[in-house]
Amino acid sequence: MTDMNETLNQWLRDAHAMEEQAEQMLDSQASRLESYPELASRIRQHLEETHSQRERLESCIERRGASSSSMKDMAARLSALMQGMSSMMSSDEVMKGLLTSYAFEHFEVASYRILTAAAEAVGDSETARMCEAICKEEEAMASWLAGQIPEVTRTYLSRESADMDEAKR
Ligand code: MG
Ligand code: FE
Repeated sequence: MTDMNETLNQWLRDAHAMEEQAEQMLDSQASRLESYPELASRIRQHLEETHSQRERLESCIERRGASSSSMKDMAARLSALMQGMSSMMSSDEVMKGLLTSYAFEHFEVASYRILTAAAEAVGDSETARMCEAICKEEEAMASWLAGQIPEVTRTYLSRESADMDEAKR
């Protein structure tokens, strides 16, 4: 029989690895974007939020008496690096980044909804509240990105058709 609390601990560790992946991804996007300043600035703001999410998860895991897993964290960083490299190699880097970010934020929303339900199921209301709060930050980022899609796409296409170097990133 698997202890429900142990399962929740494992899922919190998975979320920690996910946030490490997010930090790598956002950091590389923010530092590479040159010609899409609004996007870069919101990404930088979410990078700060993401640092804090990782820290909140660390204290939560610690408070629950579990330890974090460094193997998964390393795998997550590696996967972010590969993702970043594959979009850097494309001529529409900004669009590939937007696509990845929008999908990633929804992956995070789903993760925190599951974590909230799991924390409620084991009666850990403090963890449930933390996951709900983080979920709201991910939802806000996802909906901001959704709002940017039309304009960034139009800007990208018109720069590309004018052969501007600024199109790419
Ligand atoms: Mg996050
Ligand atoms: Fe996020």
